[in-house]
Amino acid sequence: MKKLSVTLLIALSCLSAFAQDFSDKITLVIHGGAGTITRANMSPEREKAYRDAMNTALEKGYEVLKKGGTSVQAVEAAIHVMEDSPLFNAGKGAVFTNEGKNELDAAIMEGKTLKAGAVAGVTTIRNPISAAIAVMDQSVHVMMAGKGAEQFAKEKGLEIVDPSYFYTEARYKALQRAKEQEKTELDHNGKEENGGKEEKEVKKGPKTGYHSVEDLIFTEGKKFGTVGCVALDKFGNLAAGTSTGGMTNKRYGRIGDAPIIGAGTYANNATCAVSATGHGEYFIRSVVAHDISALMEYKGLSLADASNEVVMKKLVERGGEGGIIAIDRNGNVAMPFNSEGMYRGYIKSDGKREILIYKD
Ligand code: ASP
Repeated sequence: MKKLSVTLLIALSCLSAFAQDFSDKITLVIHGGAGTITRANMSPEREKAYRDAMNTALEKGYEVLKKGGTSVQAVEAAIHVMEDSPLFNAGKGAVFTNEGKNELDAAIMEGKTLKAGAVAGVTTIRNPISAAIAVMDQSVHVMMAGKGAEQFAKEKGLEIVDPSYFYTEARYKALQRAKEQEKTELDHNGKEENGGKEEKEVKKGPKTGYHSVEDLIFTEGKKFGTVGCVALDKFGNLAAGTSTGGMTNKRYGRIGDAPIIGAGTYANNATCAVSATGHGEYFIRSVVAHDISALMEYKGLSLADASNEVVMKKLVERGGEGGIIAIDRNGNVAMPFNSEGMYRGYIKSDGKREILIYKD
């Protein structure tokens, strides 16, 4: 009799765990990049274009969640909208490398299984986020790069495009400006000023100790247009995805933080899901996304406190500019950034929706 009641108890608790429904918590958060985004340098038309695109991304992703889809499917749907829009530095509209190419990075992570997938430096996959999902779901690997990733995506039936598909004039001009500024900066690195002698000291950026030239190479106009999405589905599962063209004028096969699990992308049902945007080198060195999760896991910090600690303190002290979006299993949302602006927004099951751009 005792044995029977214990069995019954276990069966009942399994059933209730199984039936646990997070429908009243489903939430989707997006970002479209951080940087020098101020009211002063934004026209009303441009602002409307960004708001419209972000609104569509939120709706597409949320529709998936509402219909009972998974957080990974919702993240993919929202990111597709932004990858297909020339406004964002992901998919069409990606920034150019020093060689005048578009090399794309993307990653996905699922909080329930801790499975992850990523692609890096791809030039022909229309929607890199889908390739990252294919790597996660249909391979035994976590990250694939370059030609191999492209071959894999083709074999999995993903849409392959000519590299020229990613071209936009605005991004191409941005590359020309970055190169021009870089030349000017290098010309003034001290040779003439030093009476023709080799330069002794290159100007350093604040606190970072890195060459200001390095910052210039990578951050023309300091606008990081990477896109990302984090979501909580009705099963209580978190997911995070990030997709990017990287940074204008990047070179030598440079890969940023977006496809690096733990740096630009991370999800764990026990803590949170995070997607980052900003100067990738700093985010990699600070392992930003995992650091936020670790503060929650090991120190018991709330989502808001953990995110602020990393983005507003640690990163700032190290000279890293950018921001993150994050969500926990209760549907709490955090969107801290230490740059002047960040395209960001969220939508919740109670109908609350916000799209924000500036700091104030
Ligand atoms: N984090 C991206 C990278 O470094 C850039 C961005 O956020 O726009 O590749």
